[in-house]
Amino acid sequence: SITVRNATKKFGTFTALDNVSLDVPEGELLALLGPSGSGKTTLLRIIGGLEHADAGTVHHSDNDVTRHSAKDRNFGFVFQHYALFKHMTVFENVAFSLRVRNWKNGDVTTRVNELLHLVRLENHGQRYPAQLSGGQRQRIALARALAARPRVLLLDEPFGALDARVRTELRQWLRKLHDEVPVTTIFVTHDQEEAFEVSDRVVVMNAGKIEQAGTPQEVFDHPANAFVMDFLGQVN
Ligand code: ATP
Repeated sequence: SITVRNATKKFGTFTALDNVSLDVPEGELLALLGPSGSGKTTLLRIIGGLEHADAGTVHHSDNDVTRHSAKDRNFGFVFQHYALFKHMTVFENVAFSLRVRNWKNGDVTTRVNELLHLVRLENHGQRYPAQLSGGQRQRIALARALAARPRVLLLDEPFGALDARVRTELRQWLRKLHDEVPVTTIFVTHDQEEAFEVSDRVVVMNAGKIEQAGTPQEVFDHPANAFVMDFLGQVN
């Protein structure tokens, strides 16, 4: 589980995150939803240790990780622009974090094949990223993020760069993947359909604050305030 308490982050005089608290139970698939600039990415980066809050704490399974670096946390990351290594095969991309951790060759091969199977790209190990579709690349990025068995998976607009049809496909696929491998997952999106369809719980953000947290059903049926109502209304 992840617990954020009273996190505040300023960039100069601008408050990107304003005294935010959040609990994410073990195994939950949580969506951070909100308009551009609402602080979703900042919150995700603070949870992942890529950024430190000016005030507040982050706990992971009761350990205070507030001052730990991203490297110490063993969380998996996937960002919008698939940062696969272009000069490496798919296999080596997935193997990367295992090699960094000095896994033995045999164990690397077993684990990478397991992951390629999990993301249904078992015959693509010897290809290069340029030889994959955008959707396939994001599935490899997810396989890579999961390789070292992270305890938490953080996704920032993982399907943002893809066209609508592929997005819808990957959305359903992410849900299935999470049911198979129920790692605590937090994903950022500005797409309410994506948030509502995929997640166990949705957190709606605005101007650096959490406006509402609840199951898709709760948020949809009982928007907590005018902002949430407006925001949901916009796209419908
Ligand atoms: P988006 O969907 O556009 O990424 P977001 O909800 O993820 O939006 P954040 O990326 O968390 O929002 O940014 C929140 C605010 O903080 C934005 O107004 C952004 O310009 C500002 N901000 C974020 N990072 C920095 C930085 N390193 N320096 C200055 N301002 C920043």
